[in-house]
Amino acid sequence: MVQTIFSDTIVALSTPPGAGALAVIRLSGPAAIAITATVFSKKSLLAAPGHSLHYGTLRDPETQQLLDEVVVALYRNPRSFTREDVVEISCHGSDYVVRQVLAVLLRQGARLAEAGEFTKRAFLHGAMDLAQAEAVADLIASDSALSHRVALNQLRGGFSQELRELRGRLIKFAALLELELDFGEEDVEFADRSGLALLLAEVWGVIAGLLRSFELGNVIKNGITAVIAGRPNAGKSTLLNALLREERAIVSAIPGTTRDFIEDEVSLEGIRFRFVDTAGLRDNPADEIEAIGVSRTRQRVRQAALLLYLFDLTEVTPAEVRSEIEELTEGLHLPVVAVGNKTDLASPETQASFVAAFEGPAQPVPLVLVAAGPKQGLDALQTALLAQVRGSDLENTASATIVTNVRHARALETAAAHLAAVQAGLDNNRGTELLAADLRHALAALGEITGEISSEDLLTSIFTEFCIGK
Ligand code: GDP
Ligand code: ZN
Repeated sequence: MVQTIFSDTIVALSTPPGAGALAVIRLSGPAAIAITATVFSKKSLLAAPGHSLHYGTLRDPETQQLLDEVVVALYRNPRSFTREDVVEISCHGSDYVVRQVLAVLLRQGARLAEAGEFTKRAFLHGAMDLAQAEAVADLIASDSALSHRVALNQLRGGFSQELRELRGRLIKFAALLELELDFGEEDVEFADRSGLALLLAEVWGVIAGLLRSFELGNVIKNGITAVIAGRPNAGKSTLLNALLREERAIVSAIPGTTRDFIEDEVSLEGIRFRFVDTAGLRDNPADEIEAIGVSRTRQRVRQAALLLYLFDLTEVTPAEVRSEIEELTEGLHLPVVAVGNKTDLASPETQASFVAAFEGPAQPVPLVLVAAGPKQGLDALQTALLAQVRGSDLENTASATIVTNVRHARALETAAAHLAAVQAGLDNNRGTELLAADLRHALAALGEITGEISSEDLLTSIFTEFCIGK
């Protein structure tokens, strides 16, 4: 048995609320088993070993009212999620039953758990580090194969391991520097300065790689917003429907009928795309409602992470399309995919002239030719979209560590800044004291990620993001 920190026992519904075949109510804490035993039909529970299952009935000890037939799973300290005694009661999944059972357990001495409190206890008892605890939340929220894989890697400690190695190597140097300071004499150098410079460069490289992965990590976790813009009747709504494979946007042959934004999500190879259909862009809006739509379109483009510029191959010239794209993305660093629509109507010569015009110039824009109506060329479009989002190296993501958490990215940035200060200190022959201080700051920033260094505020802000019962 390990020494645990908490004297109270928490309880919560751990499955989603609402009707279901089963609902699981979880208790954790020193009295988890004793409290359950007061309402459970089999008193043998008190002496039962960990990792055992018990079938029986629950009764309200005051009224003797039968509550439900249940299965009780028992885990004993320290072999449980929280490292405390844990009981999981599987009852029938009715809101009424759950409320009754919870009420009785509360009356018998349990306390309702706060958001994330089970995972917080697991962290505080050393069952997992902070990055792993956060991965629990990510794993629960993951909705694609890719986000699931990334969260699972973090939960199993891949990221934490990488950080521990970095910290371990820096700590050795920090210790030598501190030793020099303790020694107090001017000329003593225990820490080899050129070795430190090499180590800094290496650690810096690893951190830079992790920060680069955050861009992709963010996309994997939160999806990417892609705006579909273009002149009225280019086929935006038709394309959106084709991408969503269902009749969601209203398609009409009267220009300017898409006045509101229609958006929906599609998962392409594990990356969630949120496609936003916009009102048509044109220089002289036919009416005021459309003018509002146009200005909102520009606003949407500014907030998007990717622009699909759609045009009707039979209606415009390559030069017009290029200048419309330039106008729309002026001042923005926005990946663009130009999509020429209605290949079923455009002559082969027209299509060839667009291909030539988009491959030629100094700044090529990826061009895809489709027929959104008859759903032709959509595979090539998907390929082009994915290429814009993830660059060339997504294939490596199965094994590589990907930072998905903003808090981690910020801490890595802080660490990198302090390491840069150490490097500058070395370059300018600054005193040991300054080097040691900057190195300590860098170590603290790295330690914050896994929670080796943490504050109550930080823990509160992390765990309240969880839902109750986790
Ligand atoms: P939006 O104003 O850009 O949203 O354009 P819509 O999606 O409403 O389409 C305008 C018109 O073009 C509709 O009549 C569509 O059926 C038609 N259209 C869209 N895509 C194609 C296509 O690939 N081929 C042909 N022939 N017509 C298309
Ligand atoms: Zn439309």
